[in-house]
Formats: sequence, structure tokens, C-alpha cells
Amino acid sequence: MDILAVIRDRAGEYDCPVCQRTLDGCRLTLLKDEDPLYTVQVGCARCGVTFVVVLKVRRDGPRPARQRRGPLRAPRPPIGVDEVLDVHELLRSHTGPLTELLLRR
Ligand SMILES: [Zn+2]
Repeated sequence: MDILAVIRDRAGEYDCPVCQRTLDGCRLTLLKDEDPLYTVQVGCARCGVTFVVVLKVRRDGPRPARQRRGPLRAPRPPIGVDEVLDVHELLRSHTGPLTELLLRR
């Protein structure tokens, strides 16, 4: 899967942990692909800070058939919003060097 395209698509929904502005248009580099874990370096387009996030892709199993008939919905994006938010909150509340976060785990 093209994880970078997925992140880029949703980057505008999140703020840079440093300058608090939107991450829309950020630079993305895939550092490690260990499906379902992806380590991605994110570079803020506004202030230029770079940080690393580890995303776990959640795959939904087959869904039960819906009772109501209607147009098919677009498939849900593979990244759980909660997971992205967890990373975001972690970064937001962290004041030390970002590398510290990585070493702690
Ligand atoms: Zn920034």
C-alpha cells in the first residue's frame, strides 16, 4: 500500500507539534516498512522541523452485509484515526528532544 499517499491525504487534519500549524503539504519519507508498522519521517512545510512517527495500519476484516440498500460507501482509510491522534498527542505533550521519544520505547 502507498502509506505516504494516505498520510499526505490526511496531513491537513493534523497540526505540527512545534509550530502548531497544519501539516498540509508536509514532506514525507518512508524510513521503515514493516507492514503493518510504518516508520515515517514528517517534515513540516511551515517551520521545517522534522519528526518521526510510527503508524500501525489497521485492516478491517470483511464487514457484515448492510441491511439497507444504497450506494456503496468508499472504503475506509486504512489508518485508524485514534492511532494517529495518539502519536499526535504524544508529540504535543512532549517538550524534550523528539529523539527521546524514540529511545524510550
Ligand atoms: Zn511546523
